[in-house]
Amino acid sequence: MSAESQHILPVDIFQTIFEKSPGSLLIKADMPRFTILAASDSYLEFTDTTRDAILGRGFSEVFPDNGNTDEQIKAHNVFIRVVNTGKKIDIPRYRYDIFNQQNKCYEEHHWSCSNVPITGDSGEIAYILNTVVDITGEVKAKETALENEKRLNLALEATGLATWEVNLIDNAFSYSIGMAEIFGLNPGTSLTIDMLRSQIAEEDMKSIILPSYQQALTSGEYLFEVKVVWPDKSQHWIRTQGIIIFDENNIPETMLGTTLDITESKRDEIRKNDFIAMASHELKTPLTSLKAYIQLLAKKLNNNNDEFIANALTKADNQVNKMANLIYGFLDLSRLESGKLQIKMQDFDINKLLVENIAETQLTNNGHTIIFDADGVVMIHADKERIGQVINNFLSNAIKYSPKDTIITITTKTCENEIQVSVSDTGVGIKLKDQEKLFQRFYRVDDDEIKNISGFGIGLYLASEIIQRHRGKIWVNSEENKGSTFSFSLPIG
Ligand code: ADP
Repeated sequence: MSAESQHILPVDIFQTIFEKSPGSLLIKADMPRFTILAASDSYLEFTDTTRDAILGRGFSEVFPDNGNTDEQIKAHNVFIRVVNTGKKIDIPRYRYDIFNQQNKCYEEHHWSCSNVPITGDSGEIAYILNTVVDITGEVKAKETALENEKRLNLALEATGLATWEVNLIDNAFSYSIGMAEIFGLNPGTSLTIDMLRSQIAEEDMKSIILPSYQQALTSGEYLFEVKVVWPDKSQHWIRTQGIIIFDENNIPETMLGTTLDITESKRDEIRKNDFIAMASHELKTPLTSLKAYIQLLAKKLNNNNDEFIANALTKADNQVNKMANLIYGFLDLSRLESGKLQIKMQDFDINKLLVENIAETQLTNNGHTIIFDADGVVMIHADKERIGQVINNFLSNAIKYSPKDTIITITTKTCENEIQVSVSDTGVGIKLKDQEKLFQRFYRVDDDEIKNISGFGIGLYLASEIIQRHRGKIWVNSEENKGSTFSFSLPIG
């Protein structure tokens, strides 16, 4: 045997290899019949046929046109072109439905095929190797993805939401169609992240966007509402919400989210806020004079020993104080919303402030026992009046939401660089699901037990804003029907 013939595969081995190869058909170039000479097992399997049924027969006889293939890619025409040009022809995607013998119906199939010419001994094209891959799964998946994308776009359009993504490594920015409109630009405008940033109000950039980005670097989530200025100089508001994706080394990689134009609801809120500010301001004046008259009457009463009048005046004074607290709460709320809530820092002893506030509370409420063991002098640098307001809110809530004759305990604790103040009651307590929301504006627990207790749900919201402005923390620990402990901490030193 010569060295060369040792390297020639025996025909039967070649045949086995061919039959085991993926989706292959060997066709004779005998135009126009194109006789099938060999077929691989997988070809037979996915065309739902047998070797006996197709070998030796013409291609079109076995696989007739089923009507949904265009002329250009009809197998018969492609084979003719392969023979005439001597070149390989690929058809990346076409549809050819297969008759399912078991179900007696055609099933939708998509294929990708390659047709390679094979030359015979005398140089002419003698065979065509037709290799076919069933890509029905991929085509269907792509169709589903496109369908989902269409639905998402419809939903985005209907809700006015825009979606976007920023690559934090190279600043590449991709966004949905609505993004330009939210910034007052033509829908076709090509946007960059710097372009959009330049439209955000400068004060919001500093006080909202940068801090929320810093915070998102640890939490992975962000949500902010900021003012944007359109090219026509009009002011609008947007709400952006999203997440940061980190790589395996915890380096922020991508930022993605949604943006919504909230101008309408913001304008409503501003109008409502202006109304609250105006109404509470107007109510303040008659209330102040009412209080003055009550005090005047109380003084006059010193000469008269009428117990009933004395009692009625004390009650009237209490009610006026309650009303004044509500009105001042609303005034603070509107100041806060319009960014006018001022913090005036000074040095003071927080334990002394607590003692004063407790004494004041006890003057008007004698149904509860308040226990506080002040532990020396603890000087802090903060807004005394505002911190007093937080303490009063904790105290009045503890009284409001716990039964008469129970004990309210106040503790202060200094650790490292902070002071912690807690007010505990043994009252109705708060469900876990409500605890997270208590510090939101207007949030009140919807519970039969406390539905008759008056309030507007702004005290804790104000308290949390005040504490945040002091870079402190505010939180609650509570168990339903056992009681609650409201705490805040402030930096000292
Ligand atoms: P308000 O008491 O005027 O409704 P707040 O903002 O002070 O407003 O409190 C919000 C809500 O939190 C209250 O409506 C109440 O449901 C709940 N809450 C506050 N403090 C307590 C407490 N000590 N015990 C039980 N629930 C409380």
